[in-house]
Amino acid sequence: MDYKAAFQSAVEKVRSEGRYRVFADLKRYRGDFPRAAWTQVDGSRRDVVVWCSNDYLGQGQNPVVIDAMHQAIDEAGSGSGGTRNISGTTRFHVELEEELCRLHEKPAALLFTSGYVANEAALSTLAKVLPGLIIFSDELNHASMIAGIRNGGCERHVFRHNDLEHLEQLLIAAPEVAPKLIAFESVYSMDGDIADLAGTIALAKKYGCLTYLDEVHAVGLYGEHGGGVAERDGVMDQIDIIEGTLGKAFGVMGGYIAGDPDMVDAIRSYASGFIFSTSLPPALCAGAAASVRWLRDHNEVREIHQERASSLKARFAAAGLPVMDSVSHIVPVLVSDPVHCKMISDMLLEDHGIYVQPINYPTVPRGTERLRFTPTPFHTDAMMDDLVKALDALWARCNVKRLGGYAA
Ligand SMILES: *Cc1c(COP(=O)(O)O)cnc(C)c1O
Repeated sequence: MDYKAAFQSAVEKVRSEGRYRVFADLKRYRGDFPRAAWTQVDGSRRDVVVWCSNDYLGQGQNPVVIDAMHQAIDEAGSGSGGTRNISGTTRFHVELEEELCRLHEKPAALLFTSGYVANEAALSTLAKVLPGLIIFSDELNHASMIAGIRNGGCERHVFRHNDLEHLEQLLIAAPEVAPKLIAFESVYSMDGDIADLAGTIALAKKYGCLTYLDEVHAVGLYGEHGGGVAERDGVMDQIDIIEGTLGKAFGVMGGYIAGDPDMVDAIRSYASGFIFSTSLPPALCAGAAASVRWLRDHNEVREIHQERASSLKARFAAAGLPVMDSVSHIVPVLVSDPVHCKMISDMLLEDHGIYVQPINYPTVPRGTERLRFTPTPFHTDAMMDDLVKALDALWARCNVKRLGGYAA
Protein backbone atom coordinates (compact mmCIF):
# COMPACT_ATOMS: atom_id res chain seq x y z
CA MET A 1 0.00 0.00 0.00
CA ASP A 2 1.28 3.44 -0.95
CA TYR A 3 -0.05 5.18 2.15
CA LYS A 4 1.20 8.62 1.17
CA ALA A 5 -0.54 8.46 -2.22
CA ALA A 6 -3.77 7.34 -0.55
CA PHE A 7 -3.74 10.34 1.78
CA GLN A 8 -2.95 12.68 -1.09
CA SER A 9 -5.71 11.35 -3.30
CA ALA A 10 -8.25 11.67 -0.46
CA VAL A 11 -7.32 15.33 -0.08
CA GLU A 12 -7.26 15.84 -3.83
CA LYS A 13 -10.89 14.72 -4.01
CA VAL A 14 -11.84 17.46 -1.53
CA ARG A 15 -9.73 20.00 -3.41
CA SER A 16 -11.27 19.13 -6.79
CA GLU A 17 -14.73 19.83 -5.35
CA GLY A 18 -13.60 23.31 -4.32
CA ARG A 19 -14.03 22.60 -0.62
CA TYR A 20 -10.46 22.17 0.59
CA ARG A 21 -10.25 23.98 3.90
CA VAL A 22 -7.61 26.56 4.64
CA PHE A 23 -7.58 27.88 8.19
CA ALA A 24 -7.02 31.59 8.72
CA ASP A 25 -4.22 32.18 11.25
CA LEU A 26 -5.68 34.83 13.58
CA LYS A 27 -4.69 36.53 16.80
CA ARG A 28 -7.41 38.50 18.48
CA TYR A 29 -6.56 41.80 20.10
CA ARG A 30 -7.68 41.76 23.69
CA GLY A 31 -10.10 44.62 24.30
CA ASP A 32 -10.51 45.38 20.60
CA PHE A 33 -13.03 42.73 19.58
CA PRO A 34 -13.90 41.96 16.74
CA ARG A 35 -10.52 43.04 15.36
CA ALA A 36 -7.68 40.57 14.95
CA ALA A 37 -4.28 40.20 13.33
CA TRP A 38 -4.17 37.79 10.41
CA THR A 39 -0.83 36.15 9.60
CA GLN A 40 -0.55 35.30 5.93
CA VAL A 41 1.28 32.33 4.42
CA ASP A 42 4.32 34.51 3.65
CA GLY A 43 4.49 35.58 7.31
CA SER A 44 3.21 39.12 6.79
CA ARG A 45 0.49 40.41 9.08
CA ARG A 46 -2.60 42.48 8.46
CA ASP A 47 -5.46 43.72 10.64
CA VAL A 48 -8.90 42.28 9.89
CA VAL A 49 -12.45 42.53 11.22
CA VAL A 50 -13.79 39.09 12.16
CA TRP A 51 -17.38 38.53 10.96
CA CYS A 52 -17.84 34.82 11.68
CA SER A 53 -16.98 34.26 15.32
CA ASN A 54 -19.30 32.20 17.50
CA ASP A 55 -18.12 34.32 20.43
CA TYR A 56 -21.44 36.01 19.75
CA LEU A 57 -21.28 38.59 22.53
CA GLY A 58 -17.54 39.11 22.82
CA GLN A 59 -17.50 37.36 26.19
CA GLY A 60 -14.08 35.95 25.39
CA GLN A 61 -12.86 39.52 25.91
CA ASN A 62 -15.00 40.46 28.89
CA PRO A 63 -12.68 41.53 31.77
CA VAL A 64 -15.01 39.78 34.25
CA VAL A 65 -14.34 36.46 32.49
CA ILE A 66 -10.63 37.03 31.98
CA ASP A 67 -10.08 38.11 35.60
CA ALA A 68 -11.87 35.01 36.88
CA MET A 69 -9.58 32.85 34.74
CA HIS A 70 -6.41 34.63 35.91
CA GLN A 71 -7.49 34.27 39.50
CA ALA A 72 -8.22 30.55 39.14
CA ILE A 73 -4.78 29.94 37.64
CA ASP A 74 -3.16 31.89 40.47
CA GLU A 75 -5.11 29.92 43.06
CA ALA A 76 -5.16 26.42 41.59
CA GLY A 77 -2.67 26.14 38.72
CA SER A 78 -3.20 25.04 35.14
CA GLY A 79 -4.77 21.64 34.51
CA SER A 80 -7.25 19.68 36.62
CA GLY A 81 -4.90 16.73 36.92
CA GLY A 82 -7.31 13.91 36.26
CA THR A 83 -10.65 12.53 35.20
CA ARG A 84 -13.61 13.59 37.30
CA ASN A 85 -13.36 10.33 39.26
CA ILE A 86 -9.61 10.45 39.84
CA SER A 87 -8.86 13.81 41.50
CA GLY A 88 -10.24 15.92 38.63
CA THR A 89 -13.40 17.16 40.35
CA THR A 90 -12.44 20.56 41.73
CA ARG A 91 -14.36 23.25 43.54
CA PHE A 92 -14.49 25.07 40.17
CA HIS A 93 -16.29 22.16 38.45
CA VAL A 94 -18.82 21.84 41.24
CA GLU A 95 -19.55 25.58 41.28
CA LEU A 96 -19.95 25.73 37.51
CA GLU A 97 -22.39 22.82 37.51
CA GLU A 98 -24.39 24.62 40.22
CA GLU A 99 -24.39 27.77 38.09
CA LEU A 100 -25.70 25.80 35.10
CA CYS A 101 -28.48 24.29 37.22
CA ARG A 102 -29.57 27.81 38.16
CA LEU A 103 -29.37 28.99 34.55
CA HIS A 104 -31.70 26.28 33.28
CA GLU A 105 -33.72 25.83 36.49
CA LYS A 106 -32.84 22.14 36.54
CA PRO A 107 -31.85 20.08 39.59
CA ALA A 108 -28.75 18.58 37.97
CA ALA A 109 -26.09 19.42 35.40
CA LEU A 110 -23.01 17.64 34.10
CA LEU A 111 -19.92 19.10 32.42
CA PHE A 112 -18.09 17.67 29.41
CA THR A 113 -14.94 18.86 27.67
CA SER A 114 -16.97 20.25 24.74
CA GLY A 115 -20.48 20.52 23.40
CA TYR A 116 -19.57 17.88 20.83
CA VAL A 117 -18.56 15.43 23.55
CA ALA A 118 -21.69 16.28 25.57
CA ASN A 119 -23.98 15.38 22.65
CA GLU A 120 -22.05 12.29 21.61
CA ALA A 121 -21.74 10.97 25.17
CA ALA A 122 -25.26 11.82 26.36
CA LEU A 123 -27.18 10.53 23.34
CA SER A 124 -25.16 7.32 22.93
CA THR A 125 -25.52 6.60 26.65
CA LEU A 126 -29.26 7.27 26.71
CA ALA A 127 -29.65 4.66 23.96
CA LYS A 128 -27.74 2.17 26.11
CA VAL A 129 -29.47 2.79 29.45
CA LEU A 130 -32.98 2.84 27.97
CA PRO A 131 -33.39 -0.58 26.31
CA GLY A 132 -35.48 -0.46 23.14
CA LEU A 133 -35.17 3.34 22.88
CA ILE A 134 -36.27 4.87 19.57
CA ILE A 135 -34.73 8.27 18.75
CA PHE A 136 -36.49 10.76 16.47
CA SER A 137 -33.93 13.18 15.08
CA ASP A 138 -34.32 16.39 13.05
CA GLU A 139 -32.58 16.01 9.69
CA LEU A 140 -30.47 19.13 10.26
CA ASN A 141 -29.17 18.10 13.66
CA HIS A 142 -25.51 18.80 14.34
CA ALA A 143 -22.85 16.18 13.53
CA SER A 144 -22.25 15.59 17.26
CA MET A 145 -25.89 14.55 17.82
CA ILE A 146 -25.80 12.30 14.77
CA ALA A 147 -22.60 10.70 16.08
CA GLY A 148 -24.20 10.09 19.50
CA ILE A 149 -27.35 8.62 18.02
CA ARG A 150 -25.36 6.33 15.68
CA ASN A 151 -23.00 5.22 18.41
CA GLY A 152 -25.94 4.42 20.67
CA GLY A 153 -26.93 1.78 18.12
CA CYS A 154 -30.67 2.12 18.78
CA GLU A 155 -33.52 2.41 16.29
CA ARG A 156 -33.67 5.93 14.85
CA HIS A 157 -35.92 7.90 12.57
CA VAL A 158 -35.03 11.19 10.90
CA PHE A 159 -37.83 13.72 10.46
CA ARG A 160 -37.82 16.53 7.93
CA HIS A 161 -36.36 19.72 9.32
CA ASN A 162 -38.75 21.44 11.78
CA ASP A 163 -41.64 19.44 10.25
CA LEU A 164 -43.89 18.48 13.15
CA GLU A 165 -46.41 16.74 10.89
CA HIS A 166 -43.70 14.42 9.64
CA LEU A 167 -42.49 13.88 13.20
CA GLU A 168 -46.01 12.93 14.28
CA GLN A 169 -46.37 10.45 11.41
CA LEU A 170 -43.19 8.74 12.58
CA LEU A 171 -44.35 8.77 16.21
CA ILE A 172 -47.72 7.23 15.32
CA ALA A 173 -45.96 4.43 13.44
CA ALA A 174 -43.75 3.52 16.43
CA PRO A 175 -44.86 0.99 19.08
CA GLU A 176 -46.79 2.76 21.82
CA VAL A 177 -44.92 1.08 24.67
CA ALA A 178 -41.40 1.75 23.35
CA PRO A 179 -39.31 4.41 25.12
CA LYS A 180 -38.84 7.36 22.76
CA LEU A 181 -36.74 10.50 22.57
CA ILE A 182 -36.99 13.53 20.29
CA ALA A 183 -33.59 15.11 19.58
CA PHE A 184 -33.59 18.60 18.13
CA GLU A 185 -31.98 22.03 18.29
CA SER A 186 -33.48 25.42 19.14
CA VAL A 187 -31.45 27.73 16.86
CA TYR A 188 -30.14 25.97 13.75
CA SER A 189 -26.77 27.54 13.23
CA MET A 190 -26.43 27.47 9.44
CA ASP A 191 -29.90 28.77 8.44
CA GLY A 192 -30.64 30.77 11.58
CA ASP A 193 -34.15 29.37 11.96
CA ILE A 194 -35.68 28.38 15.31
CA ALA A 195 -37.63 25.22 16.17
CA ASP A 196 -41.20 25.21 17.47
CA LEU A 197 -40.43 24.17 21.04
CA ALA A 198 -44.01 24.25 22.35
CA GLY A 199 -45.25 22.22 19.37
CA THR A 200 -42.52 19.62 19.81
CA ILE A 201 -43.20 19.38 23.55
CA ALA A 202 -46.92 18.84 22.87
CA LEU A 203 -46.09 15.91 20.58
CA ALA A 204 -43.64 14.52 23.12
CA LYS A 205 -46.36 14.54 25.78
CA LYS A 206 -48.94 12.99 23.47
CA TYR A 207 -46.66 10.09 22.57
CA GLY A 208 -44.78 9.68 25.85
CA CYS A 209 -41.34 10.84 24.63
CA LEU A 210 -38.38 12.46 26.30
CA THR A 211 -37.17 15.73 24.75
CA TYR A 212 -33.46 16.41 24.15
CA LEU A 213 -32.76 20.00 23.09
CA ASP A 214 -29.41 21.29 21.81
CA GLU A 215 -29.36 24.99 22.79
CA VAL A 216 -25.73 25.50 21.78
CA HIS A 217 -26.50 28.54 19.60
CA ALA A 218 -29.00 29.98 22.07
CA VAL A 219 -27.56 29.77 25.59
CA GLY A 220 -26.45 33.19 26.78
CA LEU A 221 -28.33 34.74 23.86
CA TYR A 222 -32.06 34.17 24.36
CA GLY A 223 -34.35 34.44 27.38
CA GLU A 224 -34.36 37.10 30.08
CA HIS A 225 -31.35 35.44 31.79
CA GLY A 226 -29.68 33.78 28.82
CA GLY A 227 -31.24 30.39 29.50
CA GLY A 228 -31.89 29.94 25.77
CA VAL A 229 -34.97 29.71 23.56
CA ALA A 230 -36.63 27.41 26.11
CA GLU A 231 -36.44 30.25 28.64
CA ARG A 232 -37.64 32.79 26.07
CA ASP A 233 -40.63 30.60 25.22
CA GLY A 234 -41.39 29.80 28.86
CA VAL A 235 -40.98 26.03 28.43
CA MET A 236 -37.67 25.35 30.18
CA ASP A 237 -39.39 23.08 32.74
CA GLN A 238 -40.92 20.99 29.96
CA ILE A 239 -37.68 20.10 28.17
CA ASP A 240 -36.23 16.96 29.72
CA ILE A 241 -32.60 17.38 28.69
CA ILE A 242 -30.99 20.68 27.74
CA GLU A 243 -27.55 20.55 26.16
CA GLY A 244 -25.31 23.59 25.79
CA THR A 245 -21.80 24.83 25.16
CA LEU A 246 -19.53 27.17 27.09
CA GLY A 247 -17.50 27.84 23.96
CA LYS A 248 -19.81 30.07 21.95
CA ALA A 249 -21.83 32.88 23.59
CA PHE A 250 -20.13 32.23 26.95
CA GLY A 251 -16.76 32.78 25.28
CA VAL A 252 -14.75 30.02 26.97
CA MET A 253 -14.87 26.24 26.31
CA GLY A 254 -16.70 23.13 27.46
CA GLY A 255 -20.12 21.53 27.12
CA TYR A 256 -22.88 20.32 29.42
CA ILE A 257 -26.28 18.76 29.88
CA ALA A 258 -28.90 19.75 32.45
CA GLY A 259 -32.03 17.95 33.58
CA ASP A 260 -33.44 15.33 35.92
CA PRO A 261 -30.95 14.15 38.60
CA ASP A 262 -31.50 10.43 37.91
CA MET A 263 -30.97 10.94 34.18
CA VAL A 264 -27.80 12.95 34.83
CA ASP A 265 -26.58 10.35 37.33
CA ALA A 266 -27.06 7.57 34.77
CA ILE A 267 -25.07 9.45 32.13
CA ARG A 268 -22.38 10.28 34.69
CA SER A 269 -22.16 6.59 35.52
CA TYR A 270 -22.12 5.13 32.00
CA ALA A 271 -20.86 7.70 29.46
CA SER A 272 -17.41 6.73 28.25
CA GLY A 273 -16.67 10.20 26.84
CA PHE A 274 -17.33 11.65 30.29
CA ILE A 275 -15.65 9.01 32.43
CA PHE A 276 -12.38 8.41 30.60
CA SER A 277 -11.25 11.96 29.83
CA THR A 278 -9.36 14.55 31.87
CA SER A 279 -11.79 17.16 33.19
CA LEU A 280 -11.72 20.80 32.13
CA PRO A 281 -8.99 23.01 33.61
CA PRO A 282 -10.15 24.99 36.66
CA ALA A 283 -9.54 28.31 34.86
CA LEU A 284 -12.00 27.38 32.10
CA CYS A 285 -14.63 26.46 34.69
CA ALA A 286 -14.07 29.70 36.59
CA GLY A 287 -14.25 31.80 33.41
CA ALA A 288 -17.38 30.03 32.22
CA ALA A 289 -19.10 30.42 35.58
CA ALA A 290 -18.25 34.15 35.62
CA SER A 291 -19.57 34.48 32.07
CA VAL A 292 -22.87 32.69 32.79
CA ARG A 293 -23.36 34.78 35.94
CA TRP A 294 -22.55 38.08 34.22
CA LEU A 295 -24.77 37.41 31.22
CA ARG A 296 -27.67 36.47 33.46
CA ASP A 297 -27.74 40.05 34.74
CA HIS A 298 -27.10 41.81 31.41
CA ASN A 299 -30.12 41.31 29.23
CA GLU A 300 -29.37 44.63 27.51
CA VAL A 301 -26.43 42.93 25.78
CA ARG A 302 -28.86 40.40 24.25
CA GLU A 303 -31.07 43.27 23.07
CA ILE A 304 -28.16 45.07 21.39
CA HIS A 305 -27.10 41.78 19.81
CA GLN A 306 -30.53 41.27 18.23
CA GLU A 307 -30.60 44.87 17.01
CA ARG A 308 -27.19 44.45 15.34
CA ALA A 309 -28.37 41.29 13.55
CA SER A 310 -31.58 42.96 12.33
CA SER A 311 -29.64 45.95 11.15
CA LEU A 312 -27.21 43.82 9.12
CA LYS A 313 -30.06 41.80 7.55
CA ALA A 314 -31.81 45.03 6.51
CA ARG A 315 -28.60 46.42 5.00
CA PHE A 316 -27.98 43.27 2.98
CA ALA A 317 -31.57 43.18 1.74
CA ALA A 318 -31.44 46.87 0.78
CA ALA A 319 -28.32 46.14 -1.31
CA GLY A 320 -30.09 43.25 -3.04
CA LEU A 321 -27.78 40.66 -1.49
CA PRO A 322 -29.46 37.25 -1.05
CA VAL A 323 -29.67 37.21 2.74
CA MET A 324 -31.48 34.11 3.97
CA ASP A 325 -34.70 34.34 5.90
CA SER A 326 -33.22 33.99 9.41
CA VAL A 327 -35.24 34.72 12.55
CA SER A 328 -32.18 34.66 14.80
CA HIS A 329 -28.85 36.42 15.28
CA ILE A 330 -27.30 34.39 12.44
CA VAL A 331 -27.12 36.17 9.08
CA PRO A 332 -26.40 33.80 6.16
CA VAL A 333 -25.98 35.07 2.61
CA LEU A 334 -26.35 32.54 -0.21
CA VAL A 335 -23.65 32.15 -2.84
CA SER A 336 -24.85 28.69 -4.01
CA ASP A 337 -21.52 27.64 -5.48
CA PRO A 338 -18.49 26.31 -3.56
CA VAL A 339 -15.83 27.87 -5.80
CA HIS A 340 -17.41 31.33 -5.81
CA CYS A 341 -18.05 31.09 -2.09
CA LYS A 342 -14.38 30.42 -1.37
CA MET A 343 -13.26 33.04 -3.88
CA ILE A 344 -15.44 35.80 -2.40
CA SER A 345 -14.27 34.90 1.08
CA ASP A 346 -10.62 35.06 -0.06
CA MET A 347 -11.10 38.43 -1.74
CA LEU A 348 -12.91 39.88 1.27
CA LEU A 349 -9.96 38.92 3.42
CA GLU A 350 -7.15 39.89 1.08
CA ASP A 351 -8.60 43.04 -0.46
CA HIS A 352 -10.88 44.36 2.27
CA GLY A 353 -9.57 43.05 5.62
CA ILE A 354 -12.94 41.35 6.23
CA TYR A 355 -12.85 37.80 7.51
CA VAL A 356 -15.81 35.49 6.94
CA GLN A 357 -15.26 31.79 6.40
CA PRO A 358 -16.98 30.14 3.40
CA ILE A 359 -19.51 27.49 4.46
CA ASN A 360 -19.45 24.61 2.00
CA TYR A 361 -20.52 20.96 1.86
CA PRO A 362 -20.66 18.87 4.08
CA THR A 363 -21.53 21.55 6.65
CA VAL A 364 -24.44 22.59 4.38
CA PRO A 365 -26.03 20.77 1.39
CA ARG A 366 -24.34 21.20 -2.00
CA GLY A 367 -25.80 24.13 -3.94
CA THR A 368 -26.51 26.10 -0.75
CA GLU A 369 -22.95 27.29 -0.13
CA ARG A 370 -23.00 30.50 1.82
CA LEU A 371 -21.26 33.15 3.85
CA ARG A 372 -22.45 33.15 7.43
CA PHE A 373 -22.18 36.43 9.28
CA THR A 374 -22.47 36.70 13.04
CA PRO A 375 -22.66 40.37 14.01
CA THR A 376 -21.98 41.01 17.68
CA PRO A 377 -22.74 44.03 19.89
CA PHE A 378 -19.22 45.19 18.98
CA HIS A 379 -19.79 45.39 15.22
CA THR A 380 -20.38 49.08 14.48
CA ASP A 381 -22.47 50.77 11.78
CA ALA A 382 -19.23 51.78 10.05
CA MET A 383 -18.05 48.15 9.96
CA MET A 384 -21.41 47.14 8.48
CA ASP A 385 -21.18 49.85 5.82
CA ASP A 386 -17.69 48.63 4.84
CA LEU A 387 -18.93 45.06 4.66
CA VAL A 388 -21.98 45.79 2.51
CA LYS A 389 -19.93 47.94 0.13
CA ALA A 390 -17.29 45.23 -0.28
CA LEU A 391 -19.85 42.45 -0.80
CA ASP A 392 -21.79 44.52 -3.30
CA ALA A 393 -18.63 45.03 -5.39
CA LEU A 394 -17.68 41.33 -5.23
CA TRP A 395 -21.21 40.21 -6.14
CA ALA A 396 -20.99 42.34 -9.27
CA ARG A 397 -17.47 41.14 -10.09
CA CYS A 398 -18.33 37.43 -9.73
CA ASN A 399 -21.85 37.82 -11.17
CA VAL A 400 -23.45 36.05 -8.23
CA LYS A 401 -27.22 35.85 -8.05
CA ARG A 402 -28.96 38.65 -6.16
CA LEU A 403 -32.37 38.86 -4.55
CA GLY A 404 -34.84 38.55 -7.42
CA GLY A 405 -32.32 37.29 -10.00
CA TYR A 406 -29.04 38.30 -11.62
CA ALA A 407 -28.13 41.96 -11.86
CA ALA A 408 -27.50 43.45 -15.28
C1 LIG B 1 -20.74 23.89 17.87
C2 LIG B 1 -21.91 22.96 18.08
C3 LIG B 1 -21.82 21.90 18.99
C4 LIG B 1 -20.53 21.53 19.64
O1 LIG B 1 -20.20 22.40 20.65
P1 LIG B 1 -18.64 22.63 20.99
O2 LIG B 1 -18.66 23.13 22.38
O3 LIG B 1 -18.11 23.59 19.99
O4 LIG B 1 -17.99 21.28 20.86
C5 LIG B 1 -22.96 21.18 19.27
N1 LIG B 1 -24.15 21.46 18.66
C6 LIG B 1 -24.25 22.44 17.76
C7 LIG B 1 -25.56 22.71 17.13
C8 LIG B 1 -23.13 23.21 17.42
O5 LIG B 1 -23.21 24.14 16.49
